Amino acid sequence: MSGKERLNIFELIKKVVFTDFVKGLSITLGYNVRGSMTLKYPDQEKWIPYKRFRGLHTLNRDENGRELCVACELCSKACPTQCITVIPMEDDTGRGISDRVAKVWKVDLVRCLFCGYCEDACPTRAVRLGRDYELACSDSSCNLKQREELLVPQSVPESFEGGVVAASTFEASPAGLRVKADLTKTKKRPW
Ligand code: SF4
Ligand code: SF4
Repeated sequence: MSGKERLNIFELIKKVVFTDFVKGLSITLGYNVRGSMTLKYPDQEKWIPYKRFRGLHTLNRDENGRELCVACELCSKACPTQCITVIPMEDDTGRGISDRVAKVWKVDLVRCLFCGYCEDACPTRAVRLGRDYELACSDSSCNLKQREELLVPQSVPESFEGGVVAASTFEASPAGLRVKADLTKTKKRPW
């Protein structure tokens, strides 16, 4: 029997026992018995991104609570869209790690690309892109994030590994709707 004839017989057997049909059906049935891929976001579950995620900016302090920003303006110079404004001032009260601190540090999120160039340029690791990603708002003024707001620690600390689904609650507050994640109750992602 030639090779071509052997191939034809093999193809014929495949057709008779519906191999391709059974293979396709097994994939479909597999999805039916697998757990749901849908997250019950935002009122029960919330995705906590990995460390490498680039979300809302955060301004860090050292272990003594002093601001790490020395108002060198390197972040605003590195920013490709010029959406960071830094105005320096002298301060010897110990507010920052140096006598030069930021009088104004603000970022316009509408123009931000979340590229991370600002955090790469920062010599003191003062500015980091955190893991807060619920940034939508109805008032355009909330797209301008000021130093005071960014100095408040974010809900997911930098040390938290991420890449998990956390239990969450959905709350209404004067500042708007908030999704609060409980980082002590996490599970692996279902997909
Ligand atoms: S993430 Fe990029 S675009 Fe956004 S502020 Fe930083 S450097 Fe500018
Ligand atoms: S955040 Fe960093 S780069 Fe930007 S002004 Fe402060 S110290 Fe300089």
